[in-house]
Amino acid sequence: MDKKDYPVITLRRGKEESLMRFHPWVFSGAIECMDNSIEEGDVVSVVSHDGRLLGTGHYQIGSIAVRMLSSGSEVIDSRFYHDRLAEAFRLRSGALNLIRDDNDAYRLVHGEGDFLPGLIVDVYGHTAVLQAHSPGMHYARNMIATALTEIEGAGIRNVYYKSETTLPYKASLDPQNDYIIGGYDTNIAMENGLKFHVDWLKGQKTGFFVDQRDNRDLLRRYAGGRRVLNMFCYTGGFSVYAIKGGANLVHSVDSSAKAVALTEANVEINFGDAAPHKAFAEDAFKYLADMQPDMYDLVILDPPAFAKHRGAIKNALRGYQRLNAKAMEKMPSGSVLFTFSCSQAITKEQFRLAVFSAAAQTGRRVRILHQLSQPADHPVNIYHPEGEYLKGLILYIE
Ligand code: SAH
Repeated sequence: MDKKDYPVITLRRGKEESLMRFHPWVFSGAIECMDNSIEEGDVVSVVSHDGRLLGTGHYQIGSIAVRMLSSGSEVIDSRFYHDRLAEAFRLRSGALNLIRDDNDAYRLVHGEGDFLPGLIVDVYGHTAVLQAHSPGMHYARNMIATALTEIEGAGIRNVYYKSETTLPYKASLDPQNDYIIGGYDTNIAMENGLKFHVDWLKGQKTGFFVDQRDNRDLLRRYAGGRRVLNMFCYTGGFSVYAIKGGANLVHSVDSSAKAVALTEANVEINFGDAAPHKAFAEDAFKYLADMQPDMYDLVILDPPAFAKHRGAIKNALRGYQRLNAKAMEKMPSGSVLFTFSCSQAITKEQFRLAVFSAAAQTGRRVRILHQLSQPADHPVNIYHPEGEYLKGLILYIE
């Protein structure tokens, strides 16, 4: 195929520097001028003020104006998506060894971390769940879906598109939640030999939080003989690993009755009805306020993102402090706390400071045993540190 002449966005003098350091975004303030024909979602060429080609990307109205797809003049067609997706699959199946008889749930595409900004793809068995976070990826969805089914060895037969909540609201985009290719076969996925019902139709995000896989496995190693509280359980991922690890008792709590039912189903499918498990539909803060002290010697706190944008950081940090203090003050000496933040707007240091404040406020002696992050199928592009969003601490409380 011939090189295409994409419409051009010209940057202000000096604004080419971050692109030359491979940062994948162009902010609107960096733009000097752009071709009149450019519409939201278009593929554009980005050039410096003196006309040097800096790369190719998707244009979008907003503070992030271009998400870069290539630092050259590649044609963004089905072959482009095919090659990028195949490369993403090679990492998961090769170095990461995530596609095994006992594991078929993984993130295939993590946006900028896989050089496909605006795109998320999670795979559950033969089904890929695709989320577009940019109009450009929305318009490319059919090409991407076809390319997904063509990745050799991935066995993807069904592609479910789920972008109603991830696209910026614009009626003209007509976001949809539907199968683009194939349809429903099974919704049971396997993670480290454990089975999970994944509800991509109605569940949050793509239906399951694959990003906690490694941390759940670590929890399994700590759970033996302990009484476990899994707060914000959602699908019960941590609960299932805790039972697998030999916990004496596991209590799962979520304010959503649907999440509680899903957790119960996931415990049942792995262990039958004899597992030492109970689930409660309750508000976290209320549950922690009402519970007896010393009831649990392993607590997991994995709340939803408290800060969805930068303006909410201060309140979010107070929220993390309050939540962690509520748990810490009731935990016995020698207990273990797994505590997380998935707010991208909050840094590791800020989160750690909030947890430090909780420890100081409750006067407990607290040591950090592990510092946790996201797993390798959520890679962070080193030129785009913003891609690191999940942070966690395992604490020993005396
Ligand atoms: N730990 C889970 C993911 C948690 S997602 C996993 O490993 O998969 C966050 C969950 O918190 C959601 O299921 C949501 O229903 C629940 N939630 C939100 N606010 C809550 C509150 N105030 N009290 C209890 N649960 C809450």
